[in-house]
Amino acid sequence: MRHVIAGNWKMYKDSEQARKYFQELGSRAAPDASRVEVLMFPGFVALGSLACQGVVPSWVSLGAQDVSSEPEGAFTGEVSPSMIRAAGGTFVLLGHSERRHVVGESDALVRAKLLNAVQGGLSPVLCIGESLKEREEGRVREVLFRQLDSALAGACITPAMRLMIAYEPVWAIGTGVNALPVQIDEAHALVRERITELLGPGIARDVPILYGGSIKPANFAEIIALKSVDGGLVGGVSLSPVTFMELVTMAAG
Ligand code: PEP
Repeated sequence: MRHVIAGNWKMYKDSEQARKYFQELGSRAAPDASRVEVLMFPGFVALGSLACQGVVPSWVSLGAQDVSSEPEGAFTGEVSPSMIRAAGGTFVLLGHSERRHVVGESDALVRAKLLNAVQGGLSPVLCIGESLKEREEGRVREVLFRQLDSALAGACITPAMRLMIAYEPVWAIGTGVNALPVQIDEAHALVRERITELLGPGIARDVPILYGGSIKPANFAEIIALKSVDGGLVGGVSLSPVTFMELVTMAAG
């Protein structure tokens, strides 16, 4: 199976740091593209500066960490899908827990962004996941279904849009505590069940479901070996090209 490894730099790395990072990545042997697909999500400024520098290895696809819900207009501070595409981005993260829970994005806004992203030619990586309180209250299924329904119900998703889902339990992001294999398997089965209902089996079968939350080389072998896991979305550990490449190599293995 072909895995996906995606790095989310969050609000780290300026343009020069991004250039050096990709220079280092490019000095390494390219991973087997038939076994692993590599995505990187720098901040907007670094993303914009990378386009014409020729440093990003051809085996890395770039994406943005967020996008506007509008295609264009008087929306100060927002960034449109066409701007992201012009900067070389082909993917976009949507509904990351830091945007839902720190910035306060609603399910409705995540849906509007997703629709705008696909209409604007970007491939969405839709992030979903329950908080610790929701897990403790036995509401994982309800929360995941609500997030998937609100983002995807009635949306026209085609294979060309390359939708991916990232299951990222909020309590595992940046905490050093990853979800257990049994918890990941259960959540991914719920996601596969619901996207099959929402999108139809033909589309849903090929939608990669990534796990995210405190992935590191020490826990990744066990996680990526799970049949329900099509790849990983990695925050902290993606900031070093050395540890990121370790994950890429493991995913290709
Ligand atoms: C993330 O930012 O999506 C993430 C999973 O972060 P971390 O790997 O640091 O937990």
